[in-house]
Amino acid sequence: MKFIGAHVSSAGGPFNAPLNAKAIGATAFAMFTKNQKQWIGKPLTASEIEQFKKTCEECGYKPFQILPHDGYLINLGSPREEGLQQSRGSFLDEMKRCQQLGLDRLNFHPGSHLKLETEDECVALIAQSINIALDKTSGVTAVIENTAGQGTNVGYKFEHIAAIIDKVEDKSRVGVCIDTCHAFAAGYDMRTKETFEKTFSDFDKIIGFKYLRGMHLNDAKKDLGSRVDRHESLGIGMLGWDTFKFIMQDSRFDNIPLVLETPNPDIWPEEIDKLKSFI
Ligand SMILES: [Zn+2]
Ligand SMILES: [Zn+2]
Repeated sequence: MKFIGAHVSSAGGPFNAPLNAKAIGATAFAMFTKNQKQWIGKPLTASEIEQFKKTCEECGYKPFQILPHDGYLINLGSPREEGLQQSRGSFLDEMKRCQQLGLDRLNFHPGSHLKLETEDECVALIAQSINIALDKTSGVTAVIENTAGQGTNVGYKFEHIAAIIDKVEDKSRVGVCIDTCHAFAAGYDMRTKETFEKTFSDFDKIIGFKYLRGMHLNDAKKDLGSRVDRHESLGIGMLGWDTFKFIMQDSRFDNIPLVLETPNPDIWPEEIDKLKSFI
């Protein structure tokens, strides 16, 4: 089955995320569990946790339909010792918040080398950061998002992600989220049946579908291989509707959250309806 939604607001408390998702006809959603611009969030209270779980149940969302996203400051591959320690502390806080909320996965951007280390060194630090967080939590999978390769971000090649997974000790709690805009900007074409098949057979060979824990469905403002991360509403970007039709008609994308991060929330209900119509 396909589960489709968007990255909705949790302003006012985590319980607002399932309510906002329900309001747009979503069967999946993404959310922040704290202010994404802060290192450490205000601790969740018992009543916030209870209210979130109750609202999810009432709205019909199970943990596998929810893809929490971590904050923007975290760099788990930071070559700067202080930044690395701060990032690891913040990531652990994010993982623990997910655990408290009964969520089973946390989506994050792998990290950046800041031109102060090699990509391999960055990848090794990221894997070590994941191992530390997994060691101190339970029940939450660390879900690595592919990047567009903007700036000094690693994770724009499937090989980077495979190398991180390879160094993670508990393979049962590491996963991947593929963002269609990021993949396209990184040079993975998926606009025709042939290129789509090629990209995802490479994905399967290099990483493996068994690690896929979510997708970000975004069209792309910039061209193939631009390495520029600019999301566009579905169908009006460089990718076009076909890419999303291929995903909807492919059972390899079943039973994971498929989440829009497109720039116009006003048309999310229409985007979701159109995606559902392809199934
Ligand atoms: Zn992301
Ligand atoms: Zn993006």
